[in-house]
Amino acid sequence: MADHDVIVIGAGFAGLYQLHRLRALGFDTRVIEAGADVGGTWYWNRYPGARCDIESVEYSYSFDADLEQEWDWSERYAAQPEILSYVRHVADRFDLREDIVLNTRVESLDWDDATQRWTVTASDGTPRTARYVIAATGCLSVPSRPDFEGLADFAGEVLWTSSWPHEGADLAGKRVAVIGTGSSGLQTITAIAPLVGSLTVFQRTPSYAVPAHNGPNADRLAAARTRYPERREVSRASSKGFDCDEEARVLLIETEAEAVVGELDRRWDIGGLCFGSGFSDLLKDADANEAVAEYVRARIREKVKSPELAERLTPRTYPIASKRMCVDTGYFEVFNQDNVTLVDLAERPIARMTGRGIVTEDGAAYDVDVIVMATGFDAMTGALNAIDIRGTDGHSLRDKWAHGPRTYLGLMSAGFPNLFTVTGPQSPSVLSNMMTSIEHHVDWITRALTHLRERGLRRMEADPDAEDNWVHTTNDLGDLTLMPQAASWYMGANIPGKQRVFMPFVGGVGLYRDLTNGIAVSHYHGFELS
Ligand code: FAD
Repeated sequence: MADHDVIVIGAGFAGLYQLHRLRALGFDTRVIEAGADVGGTWYWNRYPGARCDIESVEYSYSFDADLEQEWDWSERYAAQPEILSYVRHVADRFDLREDIVLNTRVESLDWDDATQRWTVTASDGTPRTARYVIAATGCLSVPSRPDFEGLADFAGEVLWTSSWPHEGADLAGKRVAVIGTGSSGLQTITAIAPLVGSLTVFQRTPSYAVPAHNGPNADRLAAARTRYPERREVSRASSKGFDCDEEARVLLIETEAEAVVGELDRRWDIGGLCFGSGFSDLLKDADANEAVAEYVRARIREKVKSPELAERLTPRTYPIASKRMCVDTGYFEVFNQDNVTLVDLAERPIARMTGRGIVTEDGAAYDVDVIVMATGFDAMTGALNAIDIRGTDGHSLRDKWAHGPRTYLGLMSAGFPNLFTVTGPQSPSVLSNMMTSIEHHVDWITRALTHLRERGLRRMEADPDAEDNWVHTTNDLGDLTLMPQAASWYMGANIPGKQRVFMPFVGGVGLYRDLTNGIAVSHYHGFELS
């Protein structure tokens, strides 16, 4: 039996940093990872065009000043191979690999009240226990795999963006279908359009997209290096976890129309996800939201030559920014190519797959060589619910969360002592620059474990009343915004049968940090320590 102080599940950005912090403090820590290497998201998602949508000088670790100075980000938004190299570099540079068990999936966690430890059962059969378990299992790590009738009959190749073959895929000259037009779909479509023979895009819901203006990064990187610490501090205090120039924020509905357009033009020219950040009512006031949405719709019409096609590519059924916006590099222009076809699934849903391709409900058949599935993830709760987690009295987390996740601060769930979640549901997580949120959670958890150790305590658990309050708070805050109006993966709406409940905390990264740090200082108010 291997008995550890801490077992961390997952070796993505979160698991690696958690290991680094705890080991430096003398905690005997093991990381267990299902994949064959470190990297998490950036290990699995190798599809053409995969890259981050937050600038790399922000979407990177801040915990080590030398690392910040040494690492060269070649583009404003690094592509997947470069991000994966970075994660691997971090694992090597900080000697993390020796404490990471790869190719091993954690299947169950059982709390033993007598020993106050977790028994961790994993696919390698090695018996392990740990005083604490930290789930760094990722918010977007369990792919949603829709059950299309006849998929097994398809004679061509089926590729999933979320588990793209490591050796790559040769799509040159082939007839390719892409299902899904979220971030991964957009990136894939844009990257493969120049090389495929024909491309058929199956769109359920059009996406709002803002331009990336990606490119070489030398100047930005040089500028960032002169002021990394201040920049990171701004990001930690911001609402999204990266510097979006929020100080000048105004209410759109109180701003002259000309000034609104001026501000949107300015941010459009800068590019990236700070586009709507100039207006604090974007997600609170339907008219303000519609004004920004209309601006983006007009931009789509400028890019797509066919007015009829432009209209089909234009999002109208949900508020802008109520789903994660996409960051694009020529996506809409792809539809000006003669060999590209758009199939609007709102009008003609997929009926089934056949040996030759895809058939829609109106009987139209699309014969293809390759089907690319860009169908998203069972977000936020998927990876936790995939593990059979039994807390005090054998109660299951899956059962407890059947009607939506219940946590205190997105960090712990009552009835599951000594089990922490990094970027768990009801924390800012997916609404933020995840690196900022990951580092905050890891630091918070590390501080909590140190606090317990210094006082000779062995157990920490969320108080059920504090949890109730937090669940209400996050739901109420969500309801004050337009976000729940979208059938988004934030709501679990992309997974059949999943409870529709708005999962992230919308109050912003800075507020959340102040709140959670305040709770730590006040001797972990709302937690029971013993
Ligand atoms: P992950 O990177 O998801 O790592 C979790 C790891 O846990 C995985 O390797 C998984 O195999 C492992 N695991 C899960 N369950 C088990 C188990 N039971 N047993 C063993 N191992 C397990 N966020 C941003 O902020 N900016 C971006 O630009 C951005 N771009 C993204 C692009 C894509 C294509 C995707 C999918 C996500 C993107 N994200 C982005 C979100 C991204 O997931 C996070 O930024 C970040 O990488 C998450 O790190 P993590 O360590 O928390 O989780």
